[in-house]
Amino acid sequence: MSEVRTALVIGGGIAGPVAATALLKAGIEATVYEAYPAESNGIGGALALAPNGLAALGVVGADDAVRSIATPIRHTRMSMGGRKPSELPGLPDLPPLQMVERGDLHRALHDRAVAAGVGFAYGKRLVGVDEGPAGITARFADGSTADADILVGADGVRSTVRTLIDPNAPGAGYTGMLGFEGHADADLDLAADTMTFAFGRRAYYLYWRRPDGRIGWGANLPSKKYMTLNEARAIPADDWLRTLRETYAGDVPGDELARRTTAETLQVVGALHIMPPVPHWYRGRMVLVGDAVHAPSNSTGQGASMAIESAVQLARCLRDLPGPSPAFAAYERLRRARVEKITTRGVKINHAKTPGPVARKAMSVMMPIMFKAMNMEKTMGWEQRYTIDWDAPVTAASDTASTV
Ligand SMILES: Cc1cc2nc3c(=O)[nH]c(=O)nc-3n(C[C@H](O)[C@H](O)[C@H](O)COP(=O)(O)OP(=O)(O)OC[C@H]3O[C@@H](n4cnc5c(N)ncnc54)[C@H](O)[C@@H]3O)c2cc1C
Repeated sequence: MSEVRTALVIGGGIAGPVAATALLKAGIEATVYEAYPAESNGIGGALALAPNGLAALGVVGADDAVRSIATPIRHTRMSMGGRKPSELPGLPDLPPLQMVERGDLHRALHDRAVAAGVGFAYGKRLVGVDEGPAGITARFADGSTADADILVGADGVRSTVRTLIDPNAPGAGYTGMLGFEGHADADLDLAADTMTFAFGRRAYYLYWRRPDGRIGWGANLPSKKYMTLNEARAIPADDWLRTLRETYAGDVPGDELARRTTAETLQVVGALHIMPPVPHWYRGRMVLVGDAVHAPSNSTGQGASMAIESAVQLARCLRDLPGPSPAFAAYERLRRARVEKITTRGVKINHAKTPGPVARKAMSVMMPIMFKAMNMEKTMGWEQRYTIDWDAPVTAASDTASTV
């Protein structure tokens, strides 16, 4: 039984509200502190939640609410070098991926957390901490402070908490690609439950049908130059559209999607990140969760699902083990191997998305053959069939055997 009674959760994205709800379920009072000034921060874009992410949301009672605002994706296809897409094999008996607008997901997780009793404070950018034997104090940029037994860093891939835990912690790695998302009125023969991954002539993209009938698409633009979100957004959207139209020229349907996307519907994401292994997941009364400690890159389609799983597992460990130190150690043991294995897959996909000209030619021949020969169950089953038994007690000796 834990001696931890209260928690400050830094970050109100995906991991934060889920962690706070799960902590409350574990008997720990939790408040979320978010840097943005309001709940609705105009965040755009869409993401797909994997079956394992939805299963973990079930533990905090948020799965139905998320399904009700999402579009199920039952078929995935891949196209190489502009050729006709071919269907990728799926995993039998698993529920579909769920495609959801990021803003809607944030709202659903926030509402579920508030209904459970979690408090939220906005305009609270964490800048420092003071740690003592009896608790921890968070210091915010507006001069205010908050106290609790522990502090959970759910503050994303550019985490402040990560550097408070370890000033030498690695920063977010760069995948070598900039991200964009657009909507286009394109007349494509495309079912609403189908996602297509397309390796175009010069760059990778993916596309799907949105609930409003338009085509949503995401572009991964190879770029040697790293750009933060603000740097990328300082460039006019029309300039980016010109670049995207040149990059996807001749691709089907990438060419049409780029041409039909307008400056108003183009979302500029900036550099796409991937976290290298983080040596210290916790120190004293502070611990990391979500992208702050394991961002496997957008290429895996698992970042949000991993963040949700880790949030729930952290709460289980704090529920069952006596004090932060043994609980954080058990949490890292439960999670590290799994998230690093998925990140390794992300590294491989990112290499495939940014090949040189020779590798690109070889890939367009080899990849369809590789995918046909791939044992989906062996490759993806462990990732997507993962579930968390909330009621099972965690012990200091719990091992990782069932986690990967
Ligand atoms: C283009 C793109 C596509 C993606 N597609 C998918 C997908 O299809 N499927 C998938 O599973 N994942 C996807 N991901 C990854 C997914 O978005 C992340 O893994 C997920 O958002 C991680 O959640 P998080 O809560 O850890 O971090 P975030 O969502 O980044 O939330 C962190 C929060 O912390 C706040 N914050 C930061 N610093 C501070 C501070 N100092 N004080 C207080 N608050 C702070 C931020 O404002 C933010 O609200 C994608 C990512 C990108 C970029």
